Amino acid sequence: MDDDAHHPRPCPPSIREPPLKAAPHDQLTLLDLADRDARLGQLAHRRRALPELAVLTEAVADEARLNDRRIELDTLLGDLRRELRQAEAEVEQVRARRDRDEQRLSSGAITNPKDLTNLEHEMQALQRRITTLEDNELEVMDRVETTEADLSGVMAELERARAKVADVTAARDAAFADLDAERDRVAAERADLAARLGEPLLATYEKVRAQYGSGAAALRARRCEGCRLEINGADLREIAGLPDDEVVRCPECSRILVRTIESGL
Ligand SMILES: [Zn+2]
Repeated sequence: MDDDAHHPRPCPPSIREPPLKAAPHDQLTLLDLADRDARLGQLAHRRRALPELAVLTEAVADEARLNDRRIELDTLLGDLRRELRQAEAEVEQVRARRDRDEQRLSSGAITNPKDLTNLEHEMQALQRRITTLEDNELEVMDRVETTEADLSGVMAELERARAKVADVTAARDAAFADLDAERDRVAAERADLAARLGEPLLATYEKVRAQYGSGAAALRARRCEGCRLEINGADLREIAGLPDDEVVRCPECSRILVRTIESGL
């Protein structure tokens, strides 16, 4: 990367564009301002990339999936209970008919042998029907019980998922509160620093920051602290020859380049 600094650039940006004068003290304040802006950027990034956010997305998806399963089982259980009531009613209906036949038989009212045989056949058929219906009723009962057990398992899982969503939401909100308090503190410092600067210098800083993501950097040991590139000899000589109150720009990254006692000029 450093080698790039020595390659000829197609259109080298001027180190004095736009021409601007500012007290060295104000130029140093720009470094504090850039530091606060960098910290605000880091805080915003941490807020977006908070690990709790990914955990929460997953927990919310789990909760939704379990809730869908709960609704599905609830619906199934409702259907099965209705089916069970119908099966019970059917058994009752056939039993009642068999009981009536039994009463007729035991009352001795029927004496015709053919009628008696028909009645006995009918009663046998009804008994077979009752057995079939009772088997069906038992089967539906089994399914109701299995579904009830499945549902209570899903309800327990859903409770745990809801608790996790609540826990992670609380953890996220606590992390947000910490980050926001830190952001407010840094933003207040930034406002104080910005208030100390004259409008032309601040406006230039903001313009550069909007364009390049960062507005100012120190020149330290012949290197721009912003882009980390070494300033070439010719540019360094030009910078060294400029008065202290001349605002210069990094020829590599265009940040306002602030001279310090460690600049190596
Ligand atoms: Zn630079």
